[in-house]
Amino acid sequence: MIGFPIDELLSEEECYQYLKRSLHPEGLSCPNGHELPSDQAPHDRRREPIVDYRCRECGAVFNIFTDTVWSKTHYDPSTIVMLLRGFAKGVPTKWLTDEMDLAYPSVLDRRHRIQEAVQKGERVGLPSGVSEDRLPDPGVEADEMYQNAGEKRRSAPRSG
Ligand SMILES: [Zn+2]
Repeated sequence: MIGFPIDELLSEEECYQYLKRSLHPEGLSCPNGHELPSDQAPHDRRREPIVDYRCRECGAVFNIFTDTVWSKTHYDPSTIVMLLRGFAKGVPTKWLTDEMDLAYPSVLDRRHRIQEAVQKGERVGLPSGVSEDRLPDPGVEADEMYQNAGEKRRSAPRSG
């Protein structure tokens, strides 16, 4: 498969701003619910544009992914946007991980967590125009068939 590096052509800053708006339409607050003042400077900029803030009221350190399905992710914002786009379009996980050179098991696990979160009504970063409860399953089912087929091949009885 030829991987066209769309994710490398996307602006990390634009993708970050999109995810911030999508995950926190009412604005950012700390894990204890204290609102982040709009003029507060980040506490840690080492992973810009993903920055950490420290709550002035309780001292909690957080970023836009804290307490979401993307908590502690190591993916760049553009990678997250490309994965969400693929999930929303029902693209099999294997295709996405091949094209984007990502680890298949961890992306499939993340996809399952996103589906669970969507069912619970949590925000996962999908555009507001996408009906989240219609996140298609066929891609994941195809992945599971693929995975099962692989496991069957691996566990086939060996001669001797
Ligand atoms: Zn706080």
